[in-house]
Amino acid sequence: MTQSQLRGLCLIMTILKILEFPDPRLRTKAAPVEQVDDALRTLIDDLFETMYDAPGIGLAATQVDVHKRLLVADVSIDKTEPLALINPQILTKDGVTVSDEGCLSVPGYYEEVERANHIVVRYLDRDGETVEMEAEGLLAICIQHEIDHLDGKLFVDYLSEAKRQRIRKKLDKERRQQAVAI
Ligand code: ZN
Repeated sequence: MTQSQLRGLCLIMTILKILEFPDPRLRTKAAPVEQVDDALRTLIDDLFETMYDAPGIGLAATQVDVHKRLLVADVSIDKTEPLALINPQILTKDGVTVSDEGCLSVPGYYEEVERANHIVVRYLDRDGETVEMEAEGLLAICIQHEIDHLDGKLFVDYLSEAKRQRIRKKLDKERRQQAVAI
């Protein structure tokens, strides 16, 4: 391989493996990011690549087994509004909205979840600058869902125990069938 081919490879971002419910690693509480450096920015790029590839509108580091308080989101239709939130903290929440939520870690299932419709969130951006942002509707829902991941929480936790077990059993069955097929 030539030097230029090697350099080309370095520009290729990595698609990371997404953990799936009921993987116990999804229950890990993520630790605050202490330093916003190039290694973290590479991880952010990989999270975006993984999220867009899935495809999804949000992804928390927890879902790729990295237990740092970091999430990415892009709720725009044309995927032109990438947001990376480091150490996100919700300052205020108001209003109520109910929507069908899904999750890349619970593939194929969509259930109604109640969330605040409007939030103010404070976070560090990829340059380490503090940002305060207002979000409502889908973006507010997405940020709340992803912050839950950083706390080891999944949207299925808002459902009844019986419903959660049904989803768990169906996913286990699907995985077993896939294993046999391979
Ligand atoms: Zn999720």
